[in-house]
Amino acid sequence: MSSSGIFRAVIIGPPGSGKGTVSGRISKSFGLKHISSGDILRANINAKTELGLLLKSSIDRGQLVPDHVMSRLILTDLRAIEQSSWLLDGFPRTVTQADSLDQVYSVDTVINLNVPFHTIKERLTSRWTHLPSGRVYNIDFNPPKVPGRDDVTGEPLVQRDDDTPDTVTRRLKAYETQTEPVLEYYRSKGVLETFSGTETNKIWPHVETFLHKKLSTINKAKMICTSLMTK
Ligand code: AMP
Repeated sequence: MSSSGIFRAVIIGPPGSGKGTVSGRISKSFGLKHISSGDILRANINAKTELGLLLKSSIDRGQLVPDHVMSRLILTDLRAIEQSSWLLDGFPRTVTQADSLDQVYSVDTVINLNVPFHTIKERLTSRWTHLPSGRVYNIDFNPPKVPGRDDVTGEPLVQRDDDTPDTVTRRLKAYETQTEPVLEYYRSKGVLETFSGTETNKIWPHVETFLHKKLSTINKAKMICTSLMTK
């Protein structure tokens, strides 16, 4: 934690762990700037930037963007908000990326969302979409009235490529081999905080309480520093 009171956090969790939802709640409740590597890449693809065009096909296939490209992109964005507290979501995803971040900024806390893989598989593979409208159903807790059909139009529902059992298994495998070592990296630095569970709404209160405590300690340190400097 820096004496300037700037708080730097990273959130890590497998695809489908509720990372996006938890990140949104953290940035809203605690005012941290939310930097999502996936959002940055998608914005480049939508804006058809040179980088976006170059990376689109590998991102579509769920492959990781090369470390040096990703690190440069994120570190450039972080430089622009150097005086703010931030939450990084989706980066670092490899130990090489964690090292390049560490060379510039020290991370105060890493929030690890530990959701069992079988829960994620159930969650993602039970999701069906009506492509023309974007309506999403979940066969477990929000099923369509007629199996396989959209409630409004009666048209067929499909499973997104990302959500088919094979693809979900592949994405989880990539997480295991490439991103789990990042957890070890931060555990050895003593900044890893793990939150385990199967439901985002049950995990969130624990994350919230933890961050309340952490940030009040930072604010106290900041006040002490300010008062020492003005003496
Ligand atoms: P996400 O929305 O975080 O799942 O990211 C979507 C896609 O962007 C991933 O499947 C990767 O292809 C790419 N991507 C996002 N973050 C990174 C990263 N830190 N390193 C490499 N590739 C990434």
